[in-house]
Amino acid sequence: MKPSILVINCGSSSLKFALLDIQTQQATFSGIAEKLGQTDACITFKFSGRKEQQQLGQGDHATAVYALIQQLQTLSLLDSIKAIGHRVVHGGEHFKQSALIDDYVIAEIEKCAKLAPLHNPAHLLGIRTALQAFPTLPQVAVFDTSFHQSMPAHAYLYAVPLALYREHGVRRYGFHGTSYRYIAPEAARLLGKPLAETAMVCAHLGNGASVSAILGGHSMDTSMGLTPLEGLVMGTRSGDVDPGLFNYLATTLKLDVQGVTDLLNQQSGLLGLSELSNDCRELEDAALAGNEAAQLALQIFSYRLAKYIAALVVPLGRLDVLVFTGGIGENSSYLRAAVVGQLGFLGLALDNAANERCIRGQAGLIQQSGSLPILVINTDEERMIALDTAALAGLNV
Ligand code: AMP
Repeated sequence: MKPSILVINCGSSSLKFALLDIQTQQATFSGIAEKLGQTDACITFKFSGRKEQQQLGQGDHATAVYALIQQLQTLSLLDSIKAIGHRVVHGGEHFKQSALIDDYVIAEIEKCAKLAPLHNPAHLLGIRTALQAFPTLPQVAVFDTSFHQSMPAHAYLYAVPLALYREHGVRRYGFHGTSYRYIAPEAARLLGKPLAETAMVCAHLGNGASVSAILGGHSMDTSMGLTPLEGLVMGTRSGDVDPGLFNYLATTLKLDVQGVTDLLNQQSGLLGLSELSNDCRELEDAALAGNEAAQLALQIFSYRLAKYIAALVVPLGRLDVLVFTGGIGENSSYLRAAVVGQLGFLGLALDNAANERCIRGQAGLIQQSGSLPILVINTDEERMIALDTAALAGLNV
């Protein structure tokens, strides 16, 4: 039996999991439990090229973990698990790297819950359930924020009274760090350059989207801030708006702060603009069929992204490579073309055939000759979580 790491990623009503072989860091078993807490909760397992689904009644996170254990036992995989890695969105300033979970770490994650009310409480649910189910295994928390702890103060502070930072932690934290930590060395390797000498702008574009300036492997600045709402246009999130919008909407629509926050998080972005979908693929199909709202939504997405990419060259002082990753970055040749088309002045130009080729898992360079390198890389956050977990649990990789 090959020793493995179980990676758990808990959302408010979902639980994603993957079992990775410690030596190869490949997933041998994975899946997702969805609609937890609702009447139609279910869990889907993927293994050996097969998919199996079970209904969980009105099951919660604990029900999902026990269904997962049952399935692992049936497949004789349970005893292969040597440690568990948990994705945690917000580690505040406290966690500059991943941490072995103990009571102290749990208390610190709890403190950060105010900064990520949608995510951290769900992670804690997953962590507590897993600690109960696997009391003897080492468990590790891997934070989306920790990679960005290298940002300098002039990049992470907002121009608000400094006491808000000192007393309440008001600052920019940045997210998607686990993805960037995987992407940065991979980009340097593919370019044949030492990571320490590489200046890159990486765009992680999925349902949530951000872009980061990474110098010598260290985050210098990024588009997300105190919460994952700042920055780019996303699936349902607005990204940057004038903070004056809060008062305006509160007055005109009689919404409270939570109401405006929900509107910006859940009804905005590609969904709000297109009035059609938050899904980029669906919008591309609609745009190509002539839907003007879908075309405009994608144009606003690509314009905002192009502006951010150009701005993030400032902290680097130069640009060696532009990297695309995440579901949209890895698959949407349409949006990559729209973005790079606005960045010719930075010395970036696409090779159209290479751009069209790099979809569905196909990674590589997509620039035309004479352009700075542009890379598509398939991110692998699970692998990063497994590697950190193995290292902190003292397992040999
Ligand atoms: P993620 O959150 O990283 O899983 O990314 C989800 C986003 O990737 C959704 O907006 C999808 O529509 C988008 N996506 C996935 N495949 C494609 C594709 N072939 N073309 C365009 N967008 C895609």
